This record gives sequence, structure tokens and C-alpha cells, in this order.
Amino acid sequence: MAKPLIVARDLSIIYNKGKSNEFKALQGVNTDIFEGEYIILFGPSGCGKSTLMYSIQGSLPPGEGTLLIKGDDVYSYPPSERVYFQRHVMGIIFQSFNLIGSLSVLDNVALPMIFCDADRTTRERRAQSLLDRFGVGHVSHKIPAMLSGGQQQRVSVARSMVNDPKILLADEPTGNLDSISTQQVMDKIDEINTFDRRTIIMVSHNAAHLSYAHRVYYLRDGRIVREVVNPQRKQIKPVREGETIVTELEQLARLFPYDSVETLRVKSLVNYLTQDYSFDQIIKLERATSLFIQGKIDRASYIKSLILPTERGGVQIDEKEARRMANISEKMIKNADDIRRFRARKDNNDIFFSQHILAERMQEHLLQTYRIKLDKKQASNMTEVIADRVTGVIEEEELNQRLMKSVRSHGLGLSEKEADDLTRYFEKIIAQGVDVNYKN
Ligand code: ADP
Repeated sequence: MAKPLIVARDLSIIYNKGKSNEFKALQGVNTDIFEGEYIILFGPSGCGKSTLMYSIQGSLPPGEGTLLIKGDDVYSYPPSERVYFQRHVMGIIFQSFNLIGSLSVLDNVALPMIFCDADRTTRERRAQSLLDRFGVGHVSHKIPAMLSGGQQQRVSVARSMVNDPKILLADEPTGNLDSISTQQVMDKIDEINTFDRRTIIMVSHNAAHLSYAHRVYYLRDGRIVREVVNPQRKQIKPVREGETIVTELEQLARLFPYDSVETLRVKSLVNYLTQDYSFDQIIKLERATSLFIQGKIDRASYIKSLILPTERGGVQIDEKEARRMANISEKMIKNADDIRRFRARKDNNDIFFSQHILAERMQEHLLQTYRIKLDKKQASNMTEVIADRVTGVIEEEELNQRLMKSVRSHGLGLSEKEADDLTRYFEKIIAQGVDVNYKN
């Protein structure tokens, strides 16, 4: 059986040992990380993710327990050997890039090779080829400050790879990046794992990244509280006989990364009690719906992907239900568009006009959907309520109350059931209408 590349046993890391401010940042951590794995250390700020990563990197000696890399205790190495280990076995990417401002991009990447035997030309050639690979070759002569954040991070990805390390450590590498640059950097790191077969250990508190990893270690208060296997990736860590790799809890943990095991068990049971779909179907439905929301597939393809059997990537629901879902989604997206337009123009002079038009359109849609008839006074009150909710003057609870209040008190006088249905539906449309990037 393959041996793990990194082994931690009862590892504790203590800051300021023996001083009055002594602090145990990691307690009794056990991990086995195998060559070629992509591991994410996940959890809220201050839970010990970076501490674990820097202890693997050779900078924080264990206070208790052991840490072995390739069977070796790197903390027993003489200083020169430890530096060699940190330079050649480990590559590292930081949240704040850590590039040297006075050096060109090319020199930044070539710098870690300075202690190798390679001559300057060889060093520069290797640096340039890595910069080319990560899409920043054309800016190699510039200084870092002239590059965007995303470009600077891709330069540090190139730098981390220059000595061909076995293990790549990444400390919240996309924490300072916008969504597009984040995607580019995550794709490059993924490529280093899947194509170059390097082991990746990434610190993150972004749940959207979890799907890249083979396994995710969830940390809280200096302990690993859960380990979750990604059912979407073929596992490298050998599975012990009788051990189930993927249970529903793992899938659930991906949907609700911050929930405890107890909460996930409750969700599992409540899902069974209330819904006809498995979590696998829900994940596939989410994927198809995401493409539909983004306009990447049309209505016909959306319906097709809902009907297709799960083994072919579909959601496997019957055609009538698929059409019903597509109708609802389409209507919601269309109406949410009005909200987005309205929000984007909120600061313009025609605010009253926009608000009015928006409220009228929403009203028409809601009344059609719920087949409710309103008289003139109710209709004008509804315009006001809708405008107040969309602009954030009132919250969900008050919207619901106002729908039930008498017409004389500026309400609509709807029954509790009508008000609840309308509130729920309207809140869904508002959620779809939130798009910070929308400009028109
Ligand atoms: P995370 O990466 O999950 O945000 P860290 O590993 O950076 O968490 O920190 C874990 C805990 O250890 C925090 O409470 C932090 O305040 C503390 N800590 C981190 N570095 C030091 C240090 N050099 N000295 C003392 N305490 C530290």
C-alpha cells in the first residue's frame, strides 16, 4: 500500500510557549496526505488553518506529537537542509502575492533558483516558460505594481513552481482577487494538481472552492472536526476495506459546508420526509439551473437535461415536471430581470418612474400567478408595498404583515395563506434579482 507523503500524529502547535500569552493553536491533529492529493483546509478565520499549513511547510515545529514528510522529521534537519527542503520540496503561494516590488516579474520568478547550479540564462528561460504557461509571459519585463492582482497571483504561481516542488501550499490564494481572476488562479492550481500531479494543500474559507479538492479537512478551534471526501474526484488515499467512501453526509457537507454533522443528519432525514429528490439529483438540478440562469443553455436544453437519466448527467425527472420547472424558472428569471434593471438605475433621476413601472409589472405577474383580483385601492397599496420591499425599506416579515393588513391601514387585506404564498414567491424573485455586476 502506498505510504502517505505527509503524516501528522497528535500534532499540537503552541505559540509563545512558556510565556503568559501561551496559546495552543492546533490540538491533537491527525492527517495522512498522499502524493497527488488536493487537500483544502477549511474553516472560519482563526481556526488554525494557516498554522497547520506553515507547520507542514517547516516553519512551525510541533509543540506535541509528530509531523513527518516523506517519512522524515524535517524539524530535525540541520538549518541548511531545512532551507533546501522549503525551497525544493515545497512551493508556496500567499494571499498577498509577496512579490518583490523592485524586481521585474521575470526576476521575481527566477529568484528562488538562485541557489541552484543553473546559470542565469537557464534560470531566466525556465522563469519565462512558466510565466508563458500561466498566461503572464507578456509582462515579464514589468515590475509587479504594473500588473493586476490576478496577474500578480499568476506570477506567484509561476514562482512557486520554479524549483519543481513536490508539494504546493496555497494560503488563501484568491482572498484578494475578483471573481474572474479567482477562477483563473483556481484553474491553474487545479492544472498543477491534475496535469503535473503535484500535491496541493490549500487554506480557504471559500465554500465555492471545495469541489476542486479530493478531500476537505474542516477545522474549528485548532482541531480537525470533520474530513469530507469529494465524491466528484477519484480518490488517491487508499480506502480501507469496509469503509464507505461517499455517503450522503459528504454530499450534504458540500452543500452546507458550515453545518455540523448533527445538522447534516437532520437535513438528510428532513429531505427524505419532504422531498422526492435525492441529493445527487438536487446537485444535478443545480448545475443545469445554473447554466440556464446564466443563459448558457436555452429552455429546450434545460428541459432535456432535467429529463435525462442521472447516469448520463441528467436529473431524471418526468417530462411534465421538467416542463413545469422550466416554466417557473423562466418566469422568475424574466421578472427578476426587472428588479435588476431597477436596482441598476436606482440612483438616476427617474427613480419614481422606475419604481412605479417595476411595481406595476411585478404586481401583474404576482396576481396572474396567484389568480388574485384586487380593487383600485388594494392595487395602489400593493404598488407601494412592492416598491418598499425592493428598495429595502421593509423586510420580508413586514412585507408579509402588510399583505394581510386592512386596506385602510395601507395593506391588501389578503388571507394568511395568500400572504404567505405571495411573500415566499416574491422573495424568490428578489433573490434572483440581486446581481452586483449588473449594469444597464
Ligand atoms: P486561520 O488560518 O484559520 O485564520 P491561524 O492558523 O492563522 O488561523 O491562527 C490560529 C490561531 O492562532 C488564532 O487564534 C491566531 O490568533 C493564533 N495565532 C496565529 N499566529 C500566532 C502567533 N504568531 N502568535 C500567537 N498567536 C497566533
